[in-house]
Amino acid sequence: MAVDATQPYDDQNIFAKILRGEIPCKKVREDEWSLAFHDINPQAPLHILVIPKGQYVSWDDFSAKASEAEIAGFVRAVGAVARDAGLVAPGYRLLANAGTDSHQEVPHLHVHLFAGRPLGPMLAI
Ligand code: AMP
Repeated sequence: MAVDATQPYDDQNIFAKILRGEIPCKKVREDEWSLAFHDINPQAPLHILVIPKGQYVSWDDFSAKASEAEIAGFVRAVGAVARDAGLVAPGYRLLANAGTDSHQEVPHLHVHLFAGRPLGPMLAI
């Protein structure tokens, strides 16, 4: 079911459980601010999710409430994941769903990183 991004943070969401180590993930990168792991249902040859360690429902929540250090740490982590995977030259796509119209499913902010083939038009209508 799509997330109502105006709801308070639910610490039982699946990414909160991954952050606490209660559910496994295929980890790509971790630092003080972020965790990156492979999406369980990849939509491209490479499909990585990058999440902040702080409890933020969506991009709206994060951009309004996170500290400068959290925002800088997270944004730099997304770039580092792509660079470390050798994606700067071939290119990649970032996507963050926020709220009902976007079909956000997990109520913890995540940026999708898609790569590994030409990705086609920006949106499937
Ligand atoms: P969104 O629709 O933007 O909220 O995307 C949620 C993403 O989380 C989907 O691409 C799912 O395949 C992915 N996902 C759900 N559960 C897991 C999990 N346990 N490990 C990795 N990815 C997951």
